[in-house]
Amino acid sequence: MKTNAATPAATTDASSTPTSHSHFDGVDLRQLAERFPTPFHAYSASAIHQRIGELQAALAGLDATICFAVKANPNLAILQLMANVGVGADIVSVGELRRALNAGMPAERIVFSGVGKSADEIAGALNVGIMRFNVESLDELHTLQRVAKAQDVTARAAVRINPDVDAHTHAKISTGKSENKFGVSIDEARRWFAKRKQLSHVQLDGLHVHIGSQILSVEPFRLALQRVAAFWRELEQAGHPINSIDVGGGLGVCYRAGVDQPVAASDYVDVIREALADYRGKLLLEPGRYLIAEAGVLLTRVIRVKPGVERSFLVLDAAMNDLQRPSLYDAWHDIVPVTDASRPMTTYDIVGPVCETGDTFARGRELPECVAGELLLIKATGAYGTSMASTYNSRPLAAEVLLRQGRYAVVRRRQHFEEMIAGEQPARNWETP
Ligand SMILES: *Cc1c(COP(=O)(O)O)cnc(C)c1O
Repeated sequence: MKTNAATPAATTDASSTPTSHSHFDGVDLRQLAERFPTPFHAYSASAIHQRIGELQAALAGLDATICFAVKANPNLAILQLMANVGVGADIVSVGELRRALNAGMPAERIVFSGVGKSADEIAGALNVGIMRFNVESLDELHTLQRVAKAQDVTARAAVRINPDVDAHTHAKISTGKSENKFGVSIDEARRWFAKRKQLSHVQLDGLHVHIGSQILSVEPFRLALQRVAAFWRELEQAGHPINSIDVGGGLGVCYRAGVDQPVAASDYVDVIREALADYRGKLLLEPGRYLIAEAGVLLTRVIRVKPGVERSFLVLDAAMNDLQRPSLYDAWHDIVPVTDASRPMTTYDIVGPVCETGDTFARGRELPECVAGELLLIKATGAYGTSMASTYNSRPLAAEVLLRQGRYAVVRRRQHFEEMIAGEQPARNWETP
């Protein structure tokens, strides 16, 4: 079995009945769009719970902690929902640390990744006693030692290994090739362990690997984990105990119905079980996209249909500032009308109102003929949607609504203009530095 079973809460596949996109987690999206001006994001709590449940079930019997990659979706309500079912956080900044703590995630379930942790950020994370630092350079390791010594605490650290594995994903979301900025080679990690006893305030007893994102095959994971496992055995034999192996995130999701074939959680975990069969320490997982992408949709209306030379443009009220993935990665998102798909099909270029040619959601996309005011769904926008949003063109950040079994809760209201300009001021008080 390669594919995930369809998520009941999020059944919006193109093959189903014409009105099948009208409801999401039991909520009538047309009614919801009467309540809130578009564009806005809607998340299905049931779909998120289902994904977490699948992964937790696959991990049964292992000493494993799921640390959600907060950068995928940092909304406090989403983090709270995750915290309530035992999920921790993989953070890459102090801002994300504060969000995770604020949402009730215990510090013992928080890991800190990233190539650019500053001394201040390290101090902040040490202060609250996070579980572990995923260290990405020798300079960072020395900074960690220095800051921990100053605080008179012991920092727990894992080396992020760059296994030089091709994840076969988009170049901008590949992280495990030797030319990528992430992690260090096994050769370098070996030298760190040889000198680990010189680190009086760092307990270097973990390995970490994260090879990229939107990975749709188990093979890159298998290859990376085999390299990590071989290194772990070597370290154990050399007298360096390893208490934690963090396998990163990267599990892909279905952005294009009928084309993308995601790996099932159970198949993914089988690869982990196999590669680390004789390992008895703690396992950490850092899924981001897998837990939330398909649980989110972006609701948008057609502003107008503009005739073009080759084909018409469908101009939406959502734009690249609400969802950057298409302009940033040429990413595909399925786009469907919320009601009545049984109309003649037309081919459109689907664009936003932002003054950039890159503000394009899809080119030459087949869609039922649309009219101004029509409500559309851009699908699988739960991950790297709002987290990458901006106010470009002075467009306010969109609202976010959490849905659950027929009910909804606003988990972020649309940004007010005053909030957008808060902090800006006329150049009145000129000073010298
Ligand atoms: C971004 C990131 C993740 C999450 O990646 P997904 O593809 O969303 O699962 C996990 N770990 C690290 C270190 C990351 O940078």
